[in-house]
Amino acid sequence: MNIVFLGPPGAGKGTHAQRLMKELGIPQISTGDMFRRAIREQTPTGLDAKRYIDKGELVPDEVVVAMVKERLAEPDCQHGYILDGFPRTVAQAEALDQIAHIDVALNIDTPDDIIIDRLSGRRVCAECGGTYHTSLLKEDKCPACGGAVYQRDDDKPETVTNRLAVYQEKTAPLIDYYQKKGILSTADCRGTIEENYRAVKAALEAKKQ
Ligand code: AMP
Repeated sequence: MNIVFLGPPGAGKGTHAQRLMKELGIPQISTGDMFRRAIREQTPTGLDAKRYIDKGELVPDEVVVAMVKERLAEPDCQHGYILDGFPRTVAQAEALDQIAHIDVALNIDTPDDIIIDRLSGRRVCAECGGTYHTSLLKEDKCPACGGAVYQRDDDKPETVTNRLAVYQEKTAPLIDYYQKKGILSTADCRGTIEENYRAVKAALEAKKQ
């Protein structure tokens, strides 16, 4: 099954996608993670992308599309995948339609006040990439692997505001795009992580039938 996760930054796409990936045995493809890795490794793509990411802007479509195209051609993607953070513009969705058949676009519906609280309190483990909210951390260490946790530069308040504006302008139209294709399913994610994950699974099941 080829799944697209839609939703604003901080909606929980990464958290749910990681769990679903293990359950379904298909890879999670997070373009944000791919860029962060490229930045750490100082590749040309990473250095180019950093200029946009630091400001909360989107990396140009052609850069992201080329990266995803390459990734989807890898053997582990041949039996399904979860796209997390891609597509983020209608142009990206159209490009994706040229190279893949998407079965479900899962919209992780989350109100703005919850998003702002989640993003400002989000910490990421530098070792395993796990994400946590500060309210659940007893110390600055990852509860799963003991690695150091940090706040992403683009989770800082001034950048968060811009990312939400960019989401509304560029990415929210995709809800309509996939609705018109008849493959949109929406999960109401205003509850706890467990409740939200159940909503995600139910929304997925609804489209399978
Ligand atoms: P994320 O971890 O998904 O929130 O992505 C972090 C940042 O990477 C975004 O704010 C963008 O600057 C960039 N990025 C990730 N995915 C895309 C995409 N599909 N199109 C353009 N930029 C992206």
